[in-house]
Amino acid sequence: MTVRVVPRAALDAWVNDLVQRQKVYGVQLKEERFAFGPLVRAADLRLDYDVTLLPPKKYFLPQREVLSRFDRFKVEFEPVLADEPFVLLGVHPYDFEAIRQLDAIFSRNHPDAHYLTRRRNATIVVSDVETPSQDVFAACMGTATADCMDGWDVLLTRIADATYAVEARTEKGTALVGQIQGTKGAGEADLEQRRAVWDRNRDVLKKHQLRMNPEDLPDLLARSYDHPVWEEKAALCYSCGSCNLVCPTCYCFDVADELHWDLQTGERTRHWDGCMLEKFAEVAGGHNFRGGKAARYRHRYYRKGKWIHDLTGDIACVGCGRCISACTAKIANPVEVFNRLMEATS
Ligand code: SF4
Ligand code: SF4
Repeated sequence: MTVRVVPRAALDAWVNDLVQRQKVYGVQLKEERFAFGPLVRAADLRLDYDVTLLPPKKYFLPQREVLSRFDRFKVEFEPVLADEPFVLLGVHPYDFEAIRQLDAIFSRNHPDAHYLTRRRNATIVVSDVETPSQDVFAACMGTATADCMDGWDVLLTRIADATYAVEARTEKGTALVGQIQGTKGAGEADLEQRRAVWDRNRDVLKKHQLRMNPEDLPDLLARSYDHPVWEEKAALCYSCGSCNLVCPTCYCFDVADELHWDLQTGERTRHWDGCMLEKFAEVAGGHNFRGGKAARYRHRYYRKGKWIHDLTGDIACVGCGRCISACTAKIANPVEVFNRLMEATS
């Protein structure tokens, strides 16, 4: 582990140089909300953001993407792979944990070439949270800091007003950090300041307090299938799917073949889908496996706390809080629901 210290001005100079040479996505303020987008200059980069509207998973699993092209006079489909290197700048630790979980999902059984090609092309710069968002509870889910996470390329931590600690953990990350001019090796005082940031974040990224260990969720849910909370909360649900669409660990998609106007060529596309949408579990013939709102509502929580855990061992909620903020009906708070189940079964 080599940690360097870099003044913000030197970091900005590096970013301004980097955006000239390759594709960089970073967090910027857009219409009063923070969002990841193509970065053209360091002055637009906001490492002090609280939370982005959509998680950075959109760079690995875009809202809509073309998987292949076809021509009815040719036997073969022509696969479409987005094969361009890029840097993702300023990913919060909880969003990185979500990417790590998606890596496991998209690598198992039938590895997804589209996701994995983008992932291979990405260099991920994680930045520690500077401003907690109103609904974050990452500290309850063990995702407030990235020090114990594997797989990120670079970690940036603001340790003083205009000074960052920067650490590279991979070959790609080392190459990237090597391009920054004006860094110096971190001393014990710098490392202590970084540890203080981590301690603070493990303390303050807790706007909702989960009253159990995340590892207890699968057992809790196994005992709660018939709990009245599912019907009660779902009665207020608009089935809008917002809680799915903003979630960094949701990855469901639909695939469609779209024919062009020439009626000869077309594209196979995939786009985000969500288990809270009414038609999500409808199959040919019109049968809907989760036609009732309560069944869909319950499914989302089981997906976060049990079904994915049964597959990969991960709890598929990283505590970003986006679903809480996005839900108009104010019923999508995982902490509130899990605590309620806990009360009933303890
Ligand atoms: S369930 Fe909600 S809080 Fe948990 S990761 Fe998804 S959006 Fe974030
Ligand atoms: S965001 Fe709220 S209202 Fe919309 S589907 Fe989710 S729980 Fe229902």
